[in-house]
Amino acid sequence: MGTGYSIKIVGLPAGIDSKALEHSIIKLLVNINSVMSTYQQDSELSRFNRNHSTQWVAVSSALATVVTEAQKISQLSQGAFDVTVGSLVNLWGFGPVHLTSEIPSLHQIEQAKEQVNFNLLKIRSLPPALKKERGDLYVDLSAIAKGYGVDQVATLLESQGINNYLVDIGGEERLKGYGPKGTAWRVAIEQPLAGERKVAHILDLTVGAVATSGDYRNYFDQNGKRYSHIINPSTGWPITHNLASVTVFSATAMEADGLATAILVLGPEQGFQLAEREQIAALLLIKTPAGFREEVTTHFMSNFLLGKSAE
Ligand code: ADP
Ligand code: MG
Repeated sequence: MGTGYSIKIVGLPAGIDSKALEHSIIKLLVNINSVMSTYQQDSELSRFNRNHSTQWVAVSSALATVVTEAQKISQLSQGAFDVTVGSLVNLWGFGPVHLTSEIPSLHQIEQAKEQVNFNLLKIRSLPPALKKERGDLYVDLSAIAKGYGVDQVATLLESQGINNYLVDIGGEERLKGYGPKGTAWRVAIEQPLAGERKVAHILDLTVGAVATSGDYRNYFDQNGKRYSHIINPSTGWPITHNLASVTVFSATAMEADGLATAILVLGPEQGFQLAEREQIAALLLIKTPAGFREEVTTHFMSNFLLGKSAE
């Protein structure tokens, strides 16, 4: 997944060997990568992307599960979130092959945009299968697969009777129970600053998942403008609004991960409206000349207490 992970467990149940547990977690994550990574040429998803057939293709249930959740979020966001955005992601140099840090030509953008449309990707569940209605669709699950991985690790831990844990893959987290001090887990929300790490808020949580999507880690600059890895499928261009980051709290990390990206694509007004309408607990950090302005949804306010800013 091109990132690091950390798993914290408090109070390992008797009879569980931590080394053996570590090995099963690594095996699980390696497996997920071999299904849905676009960085691995031989992954199931890479093979599906190279296969230009427009017939049903049998896939693993893991792949079908993630695509099903992705399509649900595409419907909710009217295509702002779209895992068929891959050809644009690749064109802008944010895919597995880093071709460029330059603005593509308008012609190239128009061409790649033609290949993007979540409605052309069909799912069947029993048995799991996917079908492209356009042979050159390119599916990129980077905005949601990390969340899925976090949930799978959490499920594995719970199956071992572990009830106090915090799982983090590249900043997407899921937690339960209490931390090492016997109190709630403390989750930090970053200020959306490029090149430095500063905490905006700390939240005390005892159950659930949290994911953040932002434009401040993965981007390139050209002529004083920032071009980030979050692409608006309807324009074919990286987002240009002033919403810098979105943090979503949800029951599953997969949902939080996907929704955070969806809201970020939609921007400060439409994104906020979607979050309110769908009763999503979200925190939006919006760039202003005077620093970041924060907006939280009603569902966030009624469920979470924002800890004091660290600074
Ligand atoms: P991160 O991977 O940095 O945690 P996200 O979860 O927001 O952030 O995922 C960003 C990735 O999602 C991009 O690198 C790209 O591969 C993909 N992506 C970009 N735009 C979209 C979009 N509109 N819908 C779905 N996926 C997208
Ligand atoms: Mg995401």
